Amino acid sequence: LTILGLESSCDDTAAAVVRQTEGKPADILSSVVFGQTELHSAFGGVVPEIAARAHAEKLDGCVRDALAEAAVGLDDIDAIAVTAGPGLIGGVMSGVMCAKGLAAARGLPLVGVNHLAGHALTPRLTDGVTYPYLMLLVSGGHCQFLIARGPEDFTRLGGTIDDAPGEAFDKTARLLGLPQPGGPSVQAEAEKGDPKRFRFPRPLSDRADCNMSFSGLKTALMRMRDQIAAEKGGLTRQDRADLCAGFQDAVVDVLVKKTRRALTTYLEENPNIPTLAVAGGVAANTQIRAGLMALCTELETKFTAPPLRLCTDNAAMIAYAGLERFRAGARDGMDLTARPRWPLDQTSPALLGSGK
Ligand code: ATP
Ligand code: FE
Repeated sequence: LTILGLESSCDDTAAAVVRQTEGKPADILSSVVFGQTELHSAFGGVVPEIAARAHAEKLDGCVRDALAEAAVGLDDIDAIAVTAGPGLIGGVMSGVMCAKGLAAARGLPLVGVNHLAGHALTPRLTDGVTYPYLMLLVSGGHCQFLIARGPEDFTRLGGTIDDAPGEAFDKTARLLGLPQPGGPSVQAEAEKGDPKRFRFPRPLSDRADCNMSFSGLKTALMRMRDQIAAEKGGLTRQDRADLCAGFQDAVVDVLVKKTRRALTTYLEENPNIPTLAVAGGVAANTQIRAGLMALCTELETKFTAPPLRLCTDNAAMIAYAGLERFRAGARDGMDLTARPRWPLDQTSPALLGSGK
């Protein structure tokens, strides 16, 4: 099967071609990502209207490039997979309309994909991980533990009750005057800092469940920053690096602690298939990867983290998730709707009807 995937749910316009022969590992024939960071940089965050317009402008070119790079034509494509949510609705609509146009023009089947399923199935694409596995999905808008049993079969064990860690990294960068997206810039600063100088809170970390909270970190950061500024008239480079290191240390600590709980629960149910996989943009963080890897070594669990370019938004993950759905018999019609919200533990958009 050869699937063309489209992604446009946030600030990356992407198209990719993924091919898989049954029983063999999947191949990413191409993965084109057109980022919009510069378009939004003056605003300190993604502006939905600007994003939607840029997606509408760039999608055609991305598709053309993805087909060219894969050295295939639309005649070689078996189905079109497209992110149908969750995300910024204007962007998701741009992608869904582009996919419908291609599907209608070529008489190709259409498969709507949940963006989060794209992230959550990435370890199957990159490492051939088999079901079931425990997934920690940490991204710009989400943070949750899922037991993945099939392309549309996810059980949520818990997650953040407020901000996602990616959001916390982005806000931290904004508060300290570092460039967006905040994850890479805060990580780079933290490497030069002392994580022990500032003690950030670890909310909910002693509770016996798998829930987390990250919104208190920015309040703590703001307080510390303002206190230093009041004492010394401003932040030195070292202050900034130490704040980043302390912040990152708290995020790693909470994630590792809660992963230990989630993994323990998962292993009780699945003692013979000990696998933890992490995905989503925040999974690109080296300290988070190192912390989870150490935990997995201790608990004798296999650990998988996709390469960085497949952790952040891309269309290869959408093509692959679409491929799994397509192989399982899923088809969406021209009534496929774009959904701003779409929790992973619900099924296909066609079954959910429109609007809700
Ligand atoms: P969602 O998938 O929840 O809809 P999204 O698609 O915007 O959100 P992703 O593209 O998966 O999110 O991830 C982007 C986030 O990852 C940003 O918040 C960014 O700061 C964060 N991120 C990227 N690299 C790193 C890193 N090295 N450390 C921490 N965070 C990072
Ligand atoms: Fe994402």
